[in-house]
Amino acid sequence: MKVLVINAGSSSLKYQFLDTSDGNVLAKGVCERIGEGEPAGSAARIQHKKNGVAYTENHPMSDHSEAMKIVIAYLTDSEKGVISSMDEIEAIGHRVVHGGPYFFESTLLTDEVFETLTKCVTFAPLHTPAHIMGIQGCLSVMPNTPEVLVFDTSFHQTMPEKAYMFGFSYDMYEKYSLRKYGAHGTSHRFVSIETAKALGRPIEETKIVTCHIGNGSSISAVKYGKCLDTSMGFTPLDGLLMGTRCGAVDASAVTFIMEKEGYTPEEMNDYMNKKCGLLGISGFSSDFRDIISAISSTEDTDEAKERKRRSGIALDMLAYEIQRYIGAYTAAMDGLDAISFAAGIAENNATLRRLVCSGLDWFGVKLDDDVNENGVHSPNPTLISAADSKVKVFVVPTNEELMIARDTEAIVKAL
Ligand code: ADP
Repeated sequence: MKVLVINAGSSSLKYQFLDTSDGNVLAKGVCERIGEGEPAGSAARIQHKKNGVAYTENHPMSDHSEAMKIVIAYLTDSEKGVISSMDEIEAIGHRVVHGGPYFFESTLLTDEVFETLTKCVTFAPLHTPAHIMGIQGCLSVMPNTPEVLVFDTSFHQTMPEKAYMFGFSYDMYEKYSLRKYGAHGTSHRFVSIETAKALGRPIEETKIVTCHIGNGSSISAVKYGKCLDTSMGFTPLDGLLMGTRCGAVDASAVTFIMEKEGYTPEEMNDYMNKKCGLLGISGFSSDFRDIISAISSTEDTDEAKERKRRSGIALDMLAYEIQRYIGAYTAAMDGLDAISFAAGIAENNATLRRLVCSGLDWFGVKLDDDVNENGVHSPNPTLISAADSKVKVFVVPTNEELMIARDTEAIVKAL
């Protein structure tokens, strides 16, 4: 099935047009600066890619409906496009960041579903209105094409109460639905499915820890194909140290900093989300590649030496936290068959994978150092553990768009 996957942000609209039969991306791109400029939308542009050839053009787009019209024009263009008519788009799959306590699985868009989605604004105030605009944009251009919503949180809805409740008083949960929701669920689901396939076992019989380590990072315990626990919480700030996010901290330290620095709640939120993590510890970059190159720098200036020292702390903290989660989740699942590394950092950096696994000998984890260093190139899962490792370790390139397209296909085919 040919599915158009849409990831709408407040002023952007990313798209991928996929064939689910082979996972092939026929075309993809992004509309940026939608609604920006004077007159409104005059600053907008589209970047479109087909067969590795990139086209960047300015086009006025005052809203997501206009952006969708331009995306369709590109997809059906005789030179830049891949289809001759819009009718060849069989379904649309939307990435939705938060399904609140309402959505447990990917869902066909109906009026009722749309109404419920509007309630999710409370949980993701920046993202949900953007998704709504993306959906409305698609409806206005392709009113008869089925649309499916795929939620980043829905995979985590199988967590038991003991895993998703916080230790606040119960009325906070009752009044505000304050609990752990997790994030990156589409990635964790994709990675766990691919890991079970690579293990050659039914997922219902496997215990897997999926490590999505990118700019945003989270870890999940996936027992028998269902999420048992995950490191992100009420918001994606919880859990691991990230590019610019502090991850889990002592809650009292939050009020302590607010008092000392005179931060308002909004300023504190901004600080914890944008100025901490790798950036805050290293003092100069949130990009993991910069952290790694600072660590290997031989520059003899005081500044370079300080960057090297602090980047070393950031790397050690990240590896240590991942280890702790793997240990905790192995206990929670009462066993472990596989660990999978996914997303920008964990797919690409052998040093981090080595540091994480070197502390896990006791768990029966033994890396094949040569494969870990030199053998990870494939878009398919790569086994990086040694032949005699009790727990298998994989690098699994995550593919959230393909997962969204597969869900969309499954729902639309069943109509
Ligand atoms: P996002 O959470 O935004 O989707 P990604 O999964 O793309 O992020 O991960 C981005 C992170 O991956 C950045 O910190 C980047 O430095 C890191 N990264 C990308 N390529 C490499 C690489 N070859 N080696 C090490 N880190 C990499």
